[in-house]
Parts: sequence; structure tokens; C-alpha cells
Amino acid sequence: MNSIVTFPNRIPTTEFEERRFKVYTDRQLDKIEVIQNLPEETLFEMKVVASVLPFRVNEYVINELINWDKVPNDPIYQLVFPQKGMLKDEHYERMAKLHREGADKKEIQAVAKEIRDELNPHPAGQMEMNMPELDGEVLDGVQHKYRETVLFFPAQGQTCHSYCTFCFRWAQFVGDKDLKMASTEAEKLHGYLQEHTEVTDLLVTGGDPMVMKTKNLVQYLEPLLQPEFDHIQTIRIGTKALTFWPYRFVTDKDADELIDLFAKLVDAGKHVAIMAHYNHWQEITTEIAEEAIRRIRATGAEIRAQGPLIKHVNDDADAWAKLWKKEVQLGIIPYYMFVERDTGAKNYFEVPLVEAFHIYREAMKKVSGLARTARGPSMSAGPGKVEIQGITEINGEKVFVLRFLQGRNPDWVQRPFFAKYSETATWLHELEPAFGEEKFFFEDEYEEMKKGNG
Ligand code: SF4
Repeated sequence: MNSIVTFPNRIPTTEFEERRFKVYTDRQLDKIEVIQNLPEETLFEMKVVASVLPFRVNEYVINELINWDKVPNDPIYQLVFPQKGMLKDEHYERMAKLHREGADKKEIQAVAKEIRDELNPHPAGQMEMNMPELDGEVLDGVQHKYRETVLFFPAQGQTCHSYCTFCFRWAQFVGDKDLKMASTEAEKLHGYLQEHTEVTDLLVTGGDPMVMKTKNLVQYLEPLLQPEFDHIQTIRIGTKALTFWPYRFVTDKDADELIDLFAKLVDAGKHVAIMAHYNHWQEITTEIAEEAIRRIRATGAEIRAQGPLIKHVNDDADAWAKLWKKEVQLGIIPYYMFVERDTGAKNYFEVPLVEAFHIYREAMKKVSGLARTARGPSMSAGPGKVEIQGITEINGEKVFVLRFLQGRNPDWVQRPFFAKYSETATWLHELEPAFGEEKFFFEDEYEEMKKGNG
């Protein structure tokens, strides 16, 4: 049943050599040679922060993507290596004290858990509101927030080839079972999809599903070729492997099977969309990264690019313009610029909405129409995906023009609404309705939904 048809002549074999995947976590900071040249204080700070927030980086990222001459300002260094500012001062001091005093692992872990619990580990109501049921049972590892799209978190895909410092799913990576959302149960996923014919899109996400072996992915995806899943038109796979481990698509042992699986799904009439997470053009500067893109596109799968706007990494219009241009050149469709979520190390990475909008607009001005497909800046908030469309003045009042790109109620989608202008707001809940209104139009309905009445 789970066999893969191969297309031997379709994707030309490549000249690239296999590379061994070597990864470092917080316990191996002292094994990463290149950082041993950094000041001792910096290494201590890394250790302190990495005992609270997840840290994982592989040797390809260290050696090929980071420009060490630019550290600490190199964007990819900021993307993967922990920085002192990621913890609030009081949290940092509390953890640093334990390390200075040589506290034992248990004590460090207990304090780490307390700090994490204060960092809004599950933003946008992920744990309470999006859990679907099948036969009266809550389905682990499945979320159904928007009518057409089901998110699936396969248990084997809940890590990543490296971790992003700003990751909004960070809670899954710190070994705290209460915070994990994952499923191994293909039948339950398929049972749910079969019952919900309103669903057109399945988004396989993580972590990074591309850390899974191809055979696992086959088990989840190949059954969708049966006629009872004809309503599932699109299979999206969210991944950062095109940045962190492009070898996954080129030289890993089951890379060819993976490429064949994409081709098989496409040939059977599914739209396969690889939702690639990119933050910076520097991520697409290696030959292997380009080869991975080429191989995926040769199957007929599309690659759409999305990623958040992050202070210290890409809060710069030129960097976005260069990224979008590069994507278009390589046949990738720019899709979203997100606003950094209200979780984890947000204080360090957040950019005020007004600045985010200016960066987006300036970057848009620098690119051709084909790169202007990137929507944003967009907040994936509890009620839906809210885009900042502009800043303007209406009857003498300066306002943000907003609209839902996605809404818990599909009727909210594309409806413009207005918030008072603010220099400092970084997220939807910090915005106030404009024109003296007390509430935004969706708020009462959203409150009802939260109570389970929606
Ligand atoms: S690749 Fe995605 S899930 Fe993984 S650490 Fe980065 S942002 Fe988080």
C-alpha cells in the first residue's frame, strides 16, 4: 500500500556529495570550535539562555551560512545562536546566578520551567481552541482553525535541523510534555479528513516535517490519493530544511524517494506546496540550497516562501527586497511577511507594527510585480491572520488600516477595519479601535468562540 513509484529519468542525478549531519545542542556548546574565539562572557550568556530556550545548530549552518567576520551582527548568527537579550533581565539574572553557583541540573531545569511558563508558550489559543475531535475524542497533533485548512503535526517531525532563536513553536522543543502537540496516528488524521469534506488543504508542519524519514511521510500522504480524499486538493509542507539542511532533498539516503513522492502526488493531481521558511537572502547562497530548490520544482511542486520580520535578523527593507528578488529568480513564490509572534523571546526580536509596515512598503517599492506576491506584514493572532494594509488619516484621525487575510469566521476575511495609530504597538492586542469605537467588529463573536459557543 505504501509503495513509492519512482521516476528514474525525471529528476537528473546530481553531482553533490553526501554530507554527514552533525548537530550541536546546549550541552555541546564547548564543542563548537569557531565560537571558542568569542569572548568568554558571550559564551556564558549563550549557556544561560540555552538552558531556558531551545538551542540546536548543525555544522552546515555554522560553516556555510554564517559570516563569522560579521558576528555578532551576522543575521544567521542571530537566527541560531542564543543572545543575552532574549531573556528579560530578571530571568537572565536568576538563571545566570544558578550557573555561577554551579547549581545541579534538576535545579536549573525547575527554574527554566518557571521562566518558560511566563513566556506565553502557546500563543493564539493553540492549546484551547484549535483541537478537533473524532468520535468524541480530541485528536492529538491536529489543529483545525480555519475552515479549509487542517494542520497536522506528525510526531516524527517535531524537531528541526537547527532551531531559530525566535521560534514561536519553541515550547515544543524544550522537552516539556505538557507543551507538546504531536501525533503518530495516520488513521485518525485520515478519519478526520474523510469526515470533513470542507477541508481542501492539509498543512503538514512541525517542528519540521522534513526531519522525518520519507517512509513516514509516505504513510501520511500516499493514502490521500484514494478517491475518498478527492476534496484534499492541496498538500502543504512547512519546512526550513531548504535553509538548514538542503541535503535532505539532494543527497540524504532517502532524498530520491522524497522527490519521487512529491512527483507522485503532483502527477495524481494534488497541488504540492512546499512552504519554505526564509528570513534572509544569506540562506540561499550555497549551491546545495539552489540544487534543492531546483529538484523540488522539477517535480511540479511549488515553493512558497514565508517568514517573520525579526529585529537583529531582517529588520531592513534592502534585505527583504534582496530575498524576494532571489526567490523569484529561483522560481519561488514570495508568500508572507509575518510579524514576530507574542511568545518566547519576543522582547528581543519584536519590531513595532509601524516600523514593520514601513519596511514592507520600502521593500515592495524595490522589487518587480512578481515579487509583490508577499502579503503582510501579517499577524497570526487568535481571531485570524490580520494584515496591516496601510497607515492613513481619516477625518483628521491617524489610523492603521487592517484586514483579515484569514479569520476564524470566514465572513471576516477581507473586511477592512481601523485601529488608532500607535508608534509602539507590536501585536493586535495592543491596538485600540479607531473613531471612538469600543471594540473591533469581531471581538464579541471571538469571545463567544473562546467560550466554546462559536
Ligand atoms: S524552523 Fe520553524 S519550527 Fe523550527 S525552530 Fe525555526 S521557526 Fe521554529
